[in-house]
Amino acid sequence: MSAGKLEGGALGGADDLYREVILDHFKAPKNKGRIENPNAKADGMNPLCGDQISMTGTVSDGRLTDVKFEGHGCAISQSAASMLTQLVKGRSLTEIREIAQTYKFLFGVEGAKPGDIETLGDAVALEGVKKYPVRIKCALLSCNTLLQSIDDFDKTAGAR
Ligand code: ZN
Repeated sequence: MSAGKLEGGALGGADDLYREVILDHFKAPKNKGRIENPNAKADGMNPLCGDQISMTGTVSDGRLTDVKFEGHGCAISQSAASMLTQLVKGRSLTEIREIAQTYKFLFGVEGAKPGDIETLGDAVALEGVKKYPVRIKCALLSCNTLLQSIDDFDKTAGAR
């Protein structure tokens, strides 16, 4: 059974349909790659699992008009990056920060504000990870890296 590929059966209790969505993003990630001359970028890692994510993005008129990621690690970390980049591409930085709050709330991150769950699209499939505290960091890695990348943009834009 393919579930064995998800290290340690992280999604053992998750619904099969959800597991399929996650594996689809893992096998055929969206927005994989690197943008040349990005004006927003950040690198993140989750030492607990060995996951790495590099985000590069283009911010124009307050919107993230393009975003790509590179990285390696477990299926959760990589599929989350695929799902999140798909969700936020083309959105305003304000919307992205709201989506990030909703996403974090999904995993019970302290202080995260609940938002409209509908805005999370495929990423809702990751909710089952919540039952595995160690895995939550895998799911949050790309979200935190994405936020860092737009913070990086704000900082460099302010310095200009
Ligand atoms: Zn991981």
